[in-house]
Amino acid sequence: MIRCTLLLGLLAPWLVAQTITIFLITDAEGVGGVCRQEQTDPKDAEMRQLLTGEINAAVEGFLAGGAHEVIVWDGHDGSQTLSTLTIHPKAKLVMGGLGASMLMERKFSAVAFVGQHSKANIRGGVMAHSYSSLGIQTMLLNGKPVGEIDVIAAMAGHFGIPVILLSGDQAAADELREIVPAAELAVVKEGLGRYTCITLSAEAARALIRDAARRSVAKIRTIKPYVVPGPVTLQVEYTTRNSLPIDAPWRAGAEVIDDRTIRFRGKDILEVWRLYRAR
Ligand SMILES: [Zn+2]
Repeated sequence: MIRCTLLLGLLAPWLVAQTITIFLITDAEGVGGVCRQEQTDPKDAEMRQLLTGEINAAVEGFLAGGAHEVIVWDGHDGSQTLSTLTIHPKAKLVMGGLGASMLMERKFSAVAFVGQHSKANIRGGVMAHSYSSLGIQTMLLNGKPVGEIDVIAAMAGHFGIPVILLSGDQAAADELREIVPAAELAVVKEGLGRYTCITLSAEAARALIRDAARRSVAKIRTIKPYVVPGPVTLQVEYTTRNSLPIDAPWRAGAEVIDDRTIRFRGKDILEVWRLYRAR
């Protein structure tokens, strides 16, 4: 008995280390067949079906590639787009808001994007924006223009997690390739303009994503986490309809650049993102 417990104790860490959990982060603007603003309404029935189809294809691919668990975070507009009624039966869904760390302290085996769009101001990026198309003009991380792809990849990297897959438009794929060259990319549409694209059919997009997801699992051990070296600055320029509140200069770690631009300084991405989100 003692021997048995001892053996289990020795084996358990090994077993835990072998469990492959993928954290799948989703958005709407990069989904195949989504190219008009009104389609991004979280309650748009067609978009929900298209997005869910791509997510489920990715889950199928991950499981076929050897992953044990897929946790889906509905990253689009208040996390109200996905439903457990239609999500892959073996996937789990995060419901409700997450903190600044985006749950990365759980040290998932890998992070993946489905339905991802490119950062703000990118030519040919379908509905390109950085976190908020109405609210934010530009976001700079250590002086580099960024959107969700860089910020999420950096947060994952802070916790030692690699990004292994992205599906979205060509511009989003190019953006991830720049920082994680070995990640699997499934390009489901080519943006010709902000609201003009050439898109794959839903069926073709799903097949592409399923294959890329399956291949990506094998890359978990070889893709290096994307790490943004500290100290880190995050500069946020809001759109012209915005003005920083009068007490903005007293926000922790903040420096007011002009009436609608604020810069935060922190020792790493986690600290700077916490400062930015603390309101
Ligand atoms: Zn987004």
